[in-house]
Amino acid sequence: MTHVITSLCLRDSSCVEVCPVECIIPGKPESKWPLFYIDPDTCIDCGACVPECPYEAIFAEDEIPTDYTAMGGEYLAMPEGTPGYTEVYEGENDQDEPVILKATRILDEGEVVDLTGDAGWNAAQANADYFGDDAPGYDALDM
Ligand code: SF4
Ligand code: SF4
Repeated sequence: MTHVITSLCLRDSSCVEVCPVECIIPGKPESKWPLFYIDPDTCIDCGACVPECPYEAIFAEDEIPTDYTAMGGEYLAMPEGTPGYTEVYEGENDQDEPVILKATRILDEGEVVDLTGDAGWNAAQANADYFGDDAPGYDALDM
């Protein structure tokens, strides 16, 4: 099994340093890969990253909520062009660098969402795909 970063990720990067096997990698370009991603072949399921995420975006793969009830105000980020994701998120990461995500949507209080996937996008698949032949994977660290 593996841990998975869901679309609640806003790239603040707090999870990266605690990973003992260094398998959490920033998505690049952000227009196509807006989240950080966990390499499922390297993750040892230690769970150290989970409490580090201020947006509670990381889950064990078999514990990703299919009926997450929003507090209200959370952002979900998707690749640019995803229908319905029209808000722009502007924030900072944990090094006070700007984070701008151009395809997000803000959840309403009480809204129930499936964090395993939405709009044809699947969280676990996206994490795995980022380390496949058609995505940067670890090369993003040099980009
Ligand atoms: S569960 Fe552990 S090994 Fe897997 S990504 Fe998180 S910190 Fe890294
Ligand atoms: S700590 Fe959370 S928001 Fe920050 S990069 Fe990791 S998963 Fe994304």
